[in-house]
Amino acid sequence: MIDAAEIIRSRTSILFVTLDSLRYDTARTAYDNGLTPALASLLPATGWEHRQTPGTFTLPAHMAFFSGFLPKLPQPHQPPRLWECRPPAFKTVLPQTFVFDAPNLLAGLAQHGYRSICVGGVTYFSRQTPLGSVLPDLFDEDHWRPEFCSPEPDSTRHQVDHALEIAERYEDRPVYLFVNISATHVPHGHYLGDSRDTLASQQAALAYADAHLGRLITTLTAEHRWLIILCADHGDAFGEDGYQGRGIAHPVVMNVPYAAILR
Ligand SMILES: [Zn+2]
Repeated sequence: MIDAAEIIRSRTSILFVTLDSLRYDTARTAYDNGLTPALASLLPATGWEHRQTPGTFTLPAHMAFFSGFLPKLPQPHQPPRLWECRPPAFKTVLPQTFVFDAPNLLAGLAQHGYRSICVGGVTYFSRQTPLGSVLPDLFDEDHWRPEFCSPEPDSTRHQVDHALEIAERYEDRPVYLFVNISATHVPHGHYLGDSRDTLASQQAALAYADAHLGRLITTLTAEHRWLIILCADHGDAFGEDGYQGRGIAHPVVMNVPYAAILR
């Protein structure tokens, strides 16, 4: 079990990657069929955990994540939360959970000397609109360029190159490095030479992103220990029961892949 209190007290850097819109079944099938060899070499032996997201689209899911809530197991019993903002006095917090006396995780980590860095992907991290500034405003610094966004077929390469360049600047202090991977968000039909977005093209997008995600993790962890959390913010419907997209409480949207690795 990961002891978040020990991780934060020992000033271990944290990498949080959200694979935007990545369905659990896409990630699991890609893992089982050997399409994501880099991630498979880094994930626990059982592969992705099946979890359920606290939000059905990018904004509420990330607001929950940055408030200390991560996707939960689809069962009544839950493991202790990694971290939590200080609750009202009547609520008991398990000793394994690290409590921040702050309104969100990023402000809480700042109290412990962490620098929070956002490498954006989809437009909720782009600052191109007032709403697109809400999530970046939570961070000490944020970075976004058009080539980090899903219409760019090589978006993950650009994002990972940039994330590694920024991380190098803070070798002497702990960081909370967040990267929102946009490749798995529509449009991704172009990974199969098609204008339509499908389950198959999302899997092709993940297979594309795999090598760059592997490079990100192995480079960061080459000399220092990191806590790495990978998950999707929500899934995406491609016609199941007539539904398209996200922002709906359909199982294909609620079920997400999750992994936490100390490396
Ligand atoms: Zn999203």
